[in-house]
Amino acid sequence: MHKKPVSITPKALHLLEALKGSHTGAAIYEHVQNVLEDFETSAHQRQQAYLDLIQSLLEAYARQLPKDSSLLIHLKLIKMRLALPLSVTEIRALAEQIRTLSQKLDEEIALPQEQLEKQLEDTVGDKETPAAETDAGAPSPAMTTAETAAQAPGGAEQRVHGQEDQERTDQSPAADSTALAPATGKGGEETEGISPVQDNTQLEDKRQRIRKIQKTLASHLADVIKQNEKFGILLEVEHESLRQTDNLDDITALKEALIKEVTKLMEGHRELTRKLESANKYLHIIESEGQYLNDELTRVHILSLTDELTELPNRRAFMRRLEDEVARVQRYGYPLTLALLDMDGFKKINDTLGHAAGDEVLRNFAGNVLTIFRHHDMVARYGGEEFAVILPNTDQHGALRALQKVQKRTAESPYQFNGETRAMPTFSAGVALYRPGETPSSLIERADKALYQAKRRGRNRIELANNDQLEISAR
Ligand code: GH3
Ligand code: MG
Ligand code: MG
Repeated sequence: MHKKPVSITPKALHLLEALKGSHTGAAIYEHVQNVLEDFETSAHQRQQAYLDLIQSLLEAYARQLPKDSSLLIHLKLIKMRLALPLSVTEIRALAEQIRTLSQKLDEEIALPQEQLEKQLEDTVGDKETPAAETDAGAPSPAMTTAETAAQAPGGAEQRVHGQEDQERTDQSPAADSTALAPATGKGGEETEGISPVQDNTQLEDKRQRIRKIQKTLASHLADVIKQNEKFGILLEVEHESLRQTDNLDDITALKEALIKEVTKLMEGHRELTRKLESANKYLHIIESEGQYLNDELTRVHILSLTDELTELPNRRAFMRRLEDEVARVQRYGYPLTLALLDMDGFKKINDTLGHAAGDEVLRNFAGNVLTIFRHHDMVARYGGEEFAVILPNTDQHGALRALQKVQKRTAESPYQFNGETRAMPTFSAGVALYRPGETPSSLIERADKALYQAKRRGRNRIELANNDQLEISAR
């Protein structure tokens, strides 16, 4: 007659249902679920092994008794009660019963008392700390608690209860959470302060904390399991005793014992609920911190590729894109052109009107002039007053036409400074068509030489790189 073990996994998981709302939470939920299931399976197997052993012993004793012995009925009753689930309370009660019975057995069979007691103790003694034995596979009855814990592959996460109490104090979610308040209000200008190394450290730190909370949750849930098992057994023991007694005093005593146990259990449950709630709060903090960190990383990433003044892609972003485009051209063979633009006499603006005026010229050029390039062209701020344009699928003639439009638009796009409207400076440009097999830096170098040529030849000009034959003055 084997009863199904009392499972509290569904109830415990129900308490953690809220975790499933996020990735982190779902991962922890799944981990806890696995821990619980493993725990229940192994506890069940182990108990079953002990039960089989005790049953065999009792059968051996029974065989020694005369067929008409009244003790056979007692033995039968004990055997009936030896069914899963069993807890420390139940085992102790049974051990006591067996011990009493053994005295009577001793009178009927010639087995020395000492030997009998030793056998019984050997059989049930190891079961006194069932919570300590947590991992898969039933250990042999002779295995000690310490050996069992040491052999358990997941031993670090599901240790002997006493050890965990200490650990839980050290890693109390409430204590941790105070140290965890998410940093807020970081301004965009502090980008330089956030290094990838720092980000990685923070992420690693977060992982560690999540691991901690997993451990804490696993131990809380182990407590829940233990308490529920205890209660289940207690009810059975009391029920059996009630069934067997007609005595009113006994019933009253049993009732009181039951009330006491139920009260204890309720207190335990309250405590566990409190622990689970604080663990849950802790998880929310970790989660919002994680979200903050993600946003921060995205922000840093965007900033690392964007020029703050003009909001154009910066030189780093330009280099990446150029490498991609060169790789693509090498594969598909379509034309690719690069143009470098440099403002003429820009320094003079700074010198006469001030740096702020220079900044305004750069912003105006980026926001109102260079926007005429096509969507798949890439315009980047290459340096101080230098801009680079990657024109995929465009030859030098196409690039030239586009740059002439830019010249026109520049002349038509004055900038505002100190309430005055001022004409934009002109620019010079060098254009280079990608040659099969050449590196991105060689392409840049040729465009730069052409730009230098444009400057040398008087500025406000567009020059094509060597061998591209075409040379046009846009003056
Ligand atoms: P050229 O016609 O030969 O190109 O002469 P230029 O004056 O345009 O070029 P030069 O290289 O002599 O000076 C460029 C100036 O651009 C110098 C530098 O201080 C200024 N500059 C670079 N970055 C910025 C910026 O972000 N804002 C402002 N206002 N000035 C900048
Ligand atoms: Mg210049
Ligand atoms: Mg320059």
